[in-house]
Amino acid sequence: MCVFCKIVNKEIPAEIIFDDTNVVAFYDIAPQAPTHIVVVPKEHIKSATEVIDSGLWAVFMDAVLQVVKKLDLDNQGYRLVINTGEQGGQTVPHLHLHILAGRNLGWPPG
Ligand code: AMP
Ligand code: ZN
Repeated sequence: MCVFCKIVNKEIPAEIIFDDTNVVAFYDIAPQAPTHIVVVPKEHIKSATEVIDSGLWAVFMDAVLQVVKKLDLDNQGYRLVINTGEQGGQTVPHLHLHILAGRNLGWPPG
């Protein structure tokens, strides 16, 4: 079972900030910004490319925005990132979205 499935199943601890029927969000263990949250679907889907039911995106993004609003990030701004595949920098093979906030984020990313 992958590390994010273990977090979803509460087999390893994480600082969970959001948990509903389909989606879990928790603080990243190695934060790259003052606020760094990882949002995952509970279903093990390997990457963005592997999403079969496009309806998942609506459910998923709705959860992401609930987290954004819960943390009051909308005024200051934030960045949403989905690393995909080897060159995309994906290290955990379970679809996830990063919410980054709390500093001026550089562009383009490295
Ligand atoms: P990515 O590089 O896009 O695949 O992102 C994976 C992210 O998961 C990285 O930012 C890691 O720091 C984070 N991560 C890995 N293991 C854990 C964990 N056990 N708890 C919280 N975050 C984790
Ligand atoms: Zn998984």
